[in-house]
Amino acid sequence: MTGDKRSYVIGQTEIAARPLEPALYLVATPIGNLADVTLRALETLAGADIVACEDTRVSRVLLERYGIRRRTTAYHEHNAAEAGPKLIESLAAGQSVALISDAGTPLVSDPGYRLVGEALERGIRVIPVPGPSAALAALTASGLPSDAFLFAGFLPAKAGQRLTKLESFRQVPATLIFYESPRRLAETLAAMAQALGGARKAAIGRELTKAFEEMRTGTLGELADHYAAAETPKGEIVVCVGPPEAAEDQPADIDRLLLSLAAEMPASKAAAEAAKMTGGQKQALYRRLIELKADGGG
Ligand code: SAM
Repeated sequence: MTGDKRSYVIGQTEIAARPLEPALYLVATPIGNLADVTLRALETLAGADIVACEDTRVSRVLLERYGIRRRTTAYHEHNAAEAGPKLIESLAAGQSVALISDAGTPLVSDPGYRLVGEALERGIRVIPVPGPSAALAALTASGLPSDAFLFAGFLPAKAGQRLTKLESFRQVPATLIFYESPRRLAETLAAMAQALGGARKAAIGRELTKAFEEMRTGTLGELADHYAAAETPKGEIVVCVGPPEAAEDQPADIDRLLLSLAAEMPASKAAAEAAKMTGGQKQALYRRLIELKADGGG
């Protein structure tokens, strides 16, 4: 898709776009619904000398929908080492480059971070052209606190690393936002219930802005049970997890509770009782109790 024409089309109307001042433009694009593109995104894509796409075939759908015929080039994690310096040279030579990813905001769990760093080091201007991102779409419709949030992207695929990462978020006083694949959702929710407590409020945003959009809310325990019993969901998914309740038991309180119960009853029963009292996961509490005993706690 190459062309000298700088214009875009909305409905039947062709609108001329001006050449852009030289800069690296980070252009957010829709996360499903192509009508979610901003006017400034269209002006920028139509006016740029080069449109750098994560996947040119994916972006062609958006560019064709709006009649944008600019030179495209691929920039993704596998070719960044060669494609990055070429883009920087074009920028340094006074060209304008618009960076887009397959969907949403570039750099948000998508390529671009290194390119932006290199551009800034070279004194090249970097201009954000904000718009859709699945993380914020999910957060705003989740019903969870939006005053403070932590975007955590994708969790590690390996179970042990995933649990360690989740445990590091346990005390964060903010809504947590994760991207997840539908294949791993059930497993991840079980790990979240284990690491963060089954009583935490959460929301699953699926296929946001698309025909089968769904927002399912509940506690982590309820959602983990639901997806363990359901068929693997289809489509793209964001998981939002609410912050710990102010009164939520802190790990030290839970340790004390476990030890005092274990003084009265066998470890497995103590873990089951503690799970009932705290909304936590029995298995995780049992493992914690065994650790405490091994450390000489009882
Ligand atoms: N840069 C993008 C953004 O700003 O949202 C995210 C790119 S990341 C590679 C892709 C992940 O975003 C998907 O696996 C899914 O977790 C989430 N995602 C993207 N579009 C979505 C949608 N329409 N509904 C729900 N989640 C979506």
